[in-house]
Amino acid sequence: MGARNHNYRLVKIHRTYTVEEMATLLAVHRNTVRRWFEEGLATIDQKRPVLVKGDALLTFLKDRRTKGKRPCRPGEFYCLRCRAPRRPTGSRVVYQAFTFDRGNLLGVCPDCGARLNRRVSLARMGPAIGDLQVAFPQAQEHIDESPHPSLNCDFNGGARTHA
Ligand SMILES: [Zn+2]
Repeated sequence: MGARNHNYRLVKIHRTYTVEEMATLLAVHRNTVRRWFEEGLATIDQKRPVLVKGDALLTFLKDRRTKGKRPCRPGEFYCLRCRAPRRPTGSRVVYQAFTFDRGNLLGVCPDCGARLNRRVSLARMGPAIGDLQVAFPQAQEHIDESPHPSLNCDFNGGARTHA
């Protein structure tokens, strides 16, 4: 009720939405939308800008409303097909980095076999994964060595133009 009662009837199922568009449409802060990703709102892919299908958004909002606040517990991912939190098959997920500190945890639903994903930041991954095993397919040294790779590049590039 009240603040949680978003006007999801405005959501058009056949279009896609950016974070900005969802925030405007539903009159919520962009950070609220970003939190929904961590609660299981599915994105189309890993590309920027982040896009969400209207039907995925609608399902997410409806479920959220009917169930009240039932966030995924640690180690649980929201399955869009089952419309319920699920613990990934084998208690295993794969971390897929988007940026130096953000990425996606991917798993498989044990009930229906659908792909489960949950967006996380490296810093806040603990509460999301609980006791799941996380695999890091991409080299992690890269992430540790250069926390701000693009900043460093700009810096060097700028200095070189004066030489
Ligand atoms: Zn499922």
